[in-house]
Amino acid sequence: MTDCIFDKIINKEIPAHIVYEDDVVVAFLDISQVTPGHTLVVPKKHVANIFEYDEDLASAVFARIPKIARAVQASNPDIKGLNILSNNGELAYQSVFHSHIHLIPRYTKEDGFGLKWHPTNPNSEVLAKIAQSIREQMEA
Ligand code: 5GP
Repeated sequence: MTDCIFDKIINKEIPAHIVYEDDVVVAFLDISQVTPGHTLVVPKKHVANIFEYDEDLASAVFARIPKIARAVQASNPDIKGLNILSNNGELAYQSVFHSHIHLIPRYTKEDGFGLKWHPTNPNSEVLAKIAQSIREQMEA
């Protein structure tokens, strides 16, 4: 028995509107439907967020996204685009701590999806420092 709501869906202990399933992922409609067709792609392996993926799991999960995205898009002729979003960490609005990727179909600019995005346009020196500290971690 698990307390994770997505593990419960994966184990069929609670219902969900599943649109795709194989040995690696299950994809089902988000209960909150930001826009119609809003789908979650969830690895069957319980990892909390992107920081817990290894390369094999990432390859397997992300390889499945285009096929599911195409099916969502083809399901409704009014879908004109699709946002792919993954929230990682509470501060980043993650509320279920079993990794998942949101596929959010877009119908118009005024549909249910929006991001507050405030570009800061730092200068090259600032960018260089940030890039250097990330590069150092890539090598770590
Ligand atoms: P997060 O905020 O972690 O990025 O997204 C979690 C998503 O899971 C939310 O959009 C929420 O609506 C969805 N969700 C939470 N509980 C359930 C559930 O029991 N069933 C389904 N289908 N979706 C859920």
